Amino acid sequence: STVLYNNNFVSREACTVDMEDRGYQFGDGVYEVIRIYSGKMFTSQEHITRLFESAEKIKLDLPFTKEELTKNLSTLVEKNKLHTGTIYLQVTRGASARQHQFPLEGNPVFTAYTKEVPRPENQMNEGVAAIIAEDVRWLRCDIKSLNLLGNLLAKQEAYSQGSFEAILHRDGTVTEGSSSNAFIIKNNQLITHPATNLILNGITRRELLRLCPGIGLDVKEEAFTLDDLLSADEVFIASTTAEITPIVQIDGKDVADRKPGEWTKKLQSVLKASIQEQCGE
Ligand code: PLP
Repeated sequence: STVLYNNNFVSREACTVDMEDRGYQFGDGVYEVIRIYSGKMFTSQEHITRLFESAEKIKLDLPFTKEELTKNLSTLVEKNKLHTGTIYLQVTRGASARQHQFPLEGNPVFTAYTKEVPRPENQMNEGVAAIIAEDVRWLRCDIKSLNLLGNLLAKQEAYSQGSFEAILHRDGTVTEGSSSNAFIIKNNQLITHPATNLILNGITRRELLRLCPGIGLDVKEEAFTLDDLLSADEVFIASTTAEITPIVQIDGKDVADRKPGEWTKKLQSVLKASIQEQCGE
């Protein structure tokens, strides 16, 4: 396959990163995952803008413009003849003798590659199980940083218990999933944590919130508790790869009647329509 390595299209084997790359040693970098449907990027400008915002928050100057990046990513999709899948892209502060403070000369390292990933039809239709886990991450979860240990430990705990996702909380307040945003429906209202430093403001989250008025669903961007989560009418998570995935069990207990809820299904269908509108087919 062809990958993007800085400004060059090279074979996967030709992409070799220095062992003193700060991304490798410190997780000193930021990333994005963009969905491809029918060979076209979905909400690419939102993802690219968020990459630039994440980079700015860690004081990393990107060596390209949004336009140049957009063009390179579409070329990458074409070269790999990707139909349905994802692009993973990341940029690190690059290689320099190991020291915590930033190197004087910036030399960021950018890599991107594509992968075939089908839409997760089964889990979207049937729903998945989740666990509740403590959110032990740092206080800048708004940055899409390569430092994901807090997320990984929570996800691993979920998988070790046969669950798909860990829904995180700080002192009983639900923040988000380990790799997704979390939502509940209560009394015909959609509730989700506001976009503060405690969550990543997901692009799927934003797309959903934008679609709610069109289906007459009232939105409340307000923190909710574990009690609210466990007594909700519907629960779901949303992300670029999981799209809208219903949560039908939490810590072994059924959510409502253990079936994806009506509002959740309505949101899935308007998201699908939005995808078709942007990407065709
Ligand atoms: N929150 C976290 C911690 C994530 O890792 C992700 C995506 O992987 C999301 C939320 C959802 O973001 P997006 O919808 O932009 O994929």
